Amino acid sequence: MHEKLKIYNTLTRKKEDFKPIKPGFAGIYTCGPTVYWYQHIGNLRSYIFPDILKRVLIYDGFKVKQIINITDVGHLTSDADTGEDKMEKAAKKEGKAAKDIADYYFKIFREDLKKINVLEPSEWTKATENIKEQIELIKKLEEKGYTYKTSDGIYFNTSKFKDYGKLAGLKKEGIKAGKRIAVGEKKNSTDFALWKFSETPGERLQEWNSPWGIGFPGWHIECSAMSMKYLGEHFDIHTGGQDHIQIHHTNEIAQSEAATGKKFVNYWVHGAWLLFRGEKISKSSGGLYTISELEKKGFEPLDFRYLCLGTHYRKPLSFTFENLETAKNSYQRLKNIIKELKESGKINKKYLQEFEKAVNDDMDMPRALQVLWNLLRDKKAEGKKETIKEMDKIFGLDLLREDKIELPAEIKSMVKQREEMRKKGRWEEADRIRDEIKDKGYVIEDTKDGFLVKKEQKM
Ligand code: AMP
Ligand code: ZN
Repeated sequence: MHEKLKIYNTLTRKKEDFKPIKPGFAGIYTCGPTVYWYQHIGNLRSYIFPDILKRVLIYDGFKVKQIINITDVGHLTSDADTGEDKMEKAAKKEGKAAKDIADYYFKIFREDLKKINVLEPSEWTKATENIKEQIELIKKLEEKGYTYKTSDGIYFNTSKFKDYGKLAGLKKEGIKAGKRIAVGEKKNSTDFALWKFSETPGERLQEWNSPWGIGFPGWHIECSAMSMKYLGEHFDIHTGGQDHIQIHHTNEIAQSEAATGKKFVNYWVHGAWLLFRGEKISKSSGGLYTISELEKKGFEPLDFRYLCLGTHYRKPLSFTFENLETAKNSYQRLKNIIKELKESGKINKKYLQEFEKAVNDDMDMPRALQVLWNLLRDKKAEGKKETIKEMDKIFGLDLLREDKIELPAEIKSMVKQREEMRKKGRWEEADRIRDEIKDKGYVIEDTKDGFLVKKEQKM
């Protein structure tokens, strides 16, 4: 019998039992990236925890439908609905079409996710391919009297939505504190744009016709429209980085619930920052490391995944190359030990249960890793290999993958010579060649079906 998932819900500020809307099914919407630049390792941390969440649910027997969106229009440089559209800015700077920029960075993002073993969502969805749905949603809000018009767009009136700010625990004072945001023509500082007008139609790279004039959608309405399109008006889980709590997700809730008159999402799950030198790694401040940059420095993408799993997703994680080096070494050591394990046809129930408890307890991956190490250190434990195979369904660390090594030509020819000597019964010479091969860092193991050449592992 599997464990049941408990998950920390930002909305209630409590760890809760996960109760699906439809038995056996979990719908997850993961706020995706704005694709005007490379996704840095901070962004990627925010896709590892939803991946673990999804794997845990699948492990627990749920059918999971996960949607990740791509924001390819409407995300402005300031969350206060001012500033430039990040996509437009990048496209103009690079002298390319916005779609080409979006396609290029999306492709790299997808490849990076693959490298760190984040499973593909059931569906990718792009903001620019769902403009009609967004306009329909704004129309609904207009009919219900939640919107007003200013000289630059159509805005959502947050004072009309009773529970505005419930996700972030914003009190009325909290909302006022948002005064640092220029109110301009807005009725309340927290009001936000649903549709922005093009300043000079024809000058923007991406703009659409709407009942209110030529323009483009606000960033928040995109996620409401796309999540409801694929998962229904009321669905189970919504994930994102913690920066989304105060504004983006708060606004998603307001406009979705105002439009449908029902609860939007049951569980809001947010991940903490990846920090660099004490600060949030951010695209806009240029503090950027990508997976390819880590690879260039001699790390494997999965070293980074191992690093992330070592800290609970709700705790900040400080990135340093020393930490990554430590993670790399532990991960390598882990794989080396696992490589030596033999099949036994058994599962170690005791350790597997401890592991299941940990992952179902708000995805406590540091504890799950501890269980894995304890299993390996336990000299009497049986069924190690099979148990680890089960665990890796959630870790996603390719713990049992045998790295295929391409032998250098020199070693290949020495191996061949050794074989010839053996065939001729010239054992001393064969052994001498074997030692020479060892000096070059490779070991030959004779097995019942022949022999195996491995790179010597330093434990
Ligand atoms: P963006 O493209 O800015 O919308 O970011 C994509 C995702 O990455 C969002 O869920 C952000 O919350 C998340 N994110 C951005 N910076 C970091 C960081 N330093 N650590 C963790 N998550 C981040
Ligand atoms: Zn979103």
